[in-house]
Amino acid sequence: MRPARALIDLAALRHNYRLARELTGAQALAVIKADAYGHGAVRCAQALQSEADGFAVAAIEEALSLRAAGITGPILLLEGFFEADELALIVEHDFWCVVHAPWQLEAIERAQLRKPLQVWLKLDSGMHRVGFFPEQYQDAYRRLQASGKVEKIVLMTHFSRADELENPRSEEQMAAFAQAREGLHAEVSLYNSPAILGWSPRFPALQKTDWVRSGLMLYGASPFETPHEHAARLQPVMTLESKIISLRELPAGEPIGYGARYVTDQPTRVGVVAMGYADGYPRHAPSGTPVAIDGQPSRLIGRVSMDMLTVDLTHLPQAGVGSRVELWGKQVLASDVAAAADTIPYQIFCNLRRAPLVYSGA
Ligand SMILES: *Cc1c(COP(=O)(O)O)cnc(C)c1O
Repeated sequence: MRPARALIDLAALRHNYRLARELTGAQALAVIKADAYGHGAVRCAQALQSEADGFAVAAIEEALSLRAAGITGPILLLEGFFEADELALIVEHDFWCVVHAPWQLEAIERAQLRKPLQVWLKLDSGMHRVGFFPEQYQDAYRRLQASGKVEKIVLMTHFSRADELENPRSEEQMAAFAQAREGLHAEVSLYNSPAILGWSPRFPALQKTDWVRSGLMLYGASPFETPHEHAARLQPVMTLESKIISLRELPAGEPIGYGARYVTDQPTRVGVVAMGYADGYPRHAPSGTPVAIDGQPSRLIGRVSMDMLTVDLTHLPQAGVGSRVELWGKQVLASDVAAAADTIPYQIFCNLRRAPLVYSGA
């Protein structure tokens, strides 16, 4: 069997979830959209089910497959419904529903519902993607209340530059939120992973949040580009690993792989790893991207191909066919691989495919 696989450490997932709660003292939604950022939403939800305050997904399809797998806790639909006829299912399955646009509000006013909805009313405090503008917000709140179709409203907004800890944009968004919600007595949901990790010491009382929405940090990757004391407490959940399947010694001046993107500058011992972009390893990762071979640091050389990639074993005489290769995990951080490939850990996790997921720590 091909040795490429992604090991998923569910004990680490629980550790990271607890950290989100501990840092904020708030209730935490475990964001498991996009198949839990590639980690497997059902297994992750099962691992967190006994302690999580709730889950969040992108769409009702994701929420329904969690219910079908026996997940009974609250599930928030982060973009609410896409078509008004989803409302019946939302009520039937007790999903919580973001309302981010006037057309959704109108659909709720028109709907005939068997039970009242739990709504998370989204403010556009400056991200300018979805959400009501500040001047519409109080009116939207009152219309939801007056509709008679809503039993609880949570106030929420989302930050566009939370990972840039020195950027004043987050404080501007906080201020816009505080002003827009003035006088509304309701629970509040503000922070994503960078805010949970980066702001709790920084904005202790500025804006109380009842709910946080932790995504990336659950999976143990840092959302920051530079080291951070709380991000250092995260435990990586996914280890993407494979093995060396072939070995060759090349003299100086020999090209490796497609397009001869790497040419040996000295006699080089090259290992071929069963891992490629069809598994989700980023094709744009350049020579020099970190890997670990039997626990020893090494680097990618040459272009990543669909099913294989090549690594430098010149300094690792013990390594050979069958040596274990960590592409990312507890030793090689996914955020470092992402940075080398000019992307973000969110994307490299979501891109994972073909390599089977193997769980431990349930
Ligand atoms: C995806 C998402 C989150 C989680 O963000 P992370 O940075 O992964 O923690 C939080 N809130 C909303 C609205 C989202 O769409």
